[in-house]
Amino acid sequence: KKPVIAIDGFSSTGKSSISKIIAKRLGLIHMDTGALYRGITFYAIQNCADNDGNIDLQKLISSLPKINLEFQNIDGELILFLNGKNIDKEIRFPQVSDNVSQVAKEADVRNFLLKTQRDIAEKGGVIMDGRDIGTVVLPNADYKFFMTASQDERVRRRFLELELAGEKTDVETVKQNLISRDKIDSEREVSPLKQADDAILIDNTNINKEETIELILSYIKK
Ligand code: C5P
Repeated sequence: KKPVIAIDGFSSTGKSSISKIIAKRLGLIHMDTGALYRGITFYAIQNCADNDGNIDLQKLISSLPKINLEFQNIDGELILFLNGKNIDKEIRFPQVSDNVSQVAKEADVRNFLLKTQRDIAEKGGVIMDGRDIGTVVLPNADYKFFMTASQDERVRRRFLELELAGEKTDVETVKQNLISRDKIDSEREVSPLKQADDAILIDNTNINKEETIELILSYIKK
């Protein structure tokens, strides 16, 4: 039976890109759970925000039944659709990154997304990355990893990634977003970002992507 792997950790530690590659190598499905929170945030920006872009969380919570988020497997990659529309690009917009942690701290939002995440893992053969996968979503995962790296290194990676994607930004803006998200994610009451007791800590400050992948794979029995 193929394993269920949980990868949690801080923003911009490479969780998603590394999970994607491990999924290909081991023949697993990869699910980026951050995309779900981003999808809800994108909906909220469009439908539940005032003219200044402030999200009305109560309005969002009462709108949850109108939100249909699903992944479609396109060429082996799970692409997120919101009410039938491909929002793969939109969920990376800076406005989404700036608001997502506010949305993700709401218990109703988290509960709403729980089933989607657990259903995917039911049959096994999945690697799921997020903040609370090993602690809350899949406490019985076969393997759990918790990824971290120094703040400077994470800011550097995130900045390069945005630059590569053609986003106009600067290092200070990226740093503030990262610090603020990690703070809200770690301090929230429901499902805070934290290492599960039985998760293996992976610090990749001084190793590259390929070395991180090899390190994680070395723990997984073939
Ligand atoms: O992984 P990514 O950085 O795209 O996640 C965006 C945000 O979604 C996180 O900063 C966090 O607020 C929220 N999130 C979460 N629980 C998860 C995955 C993401 O709260 N399992």
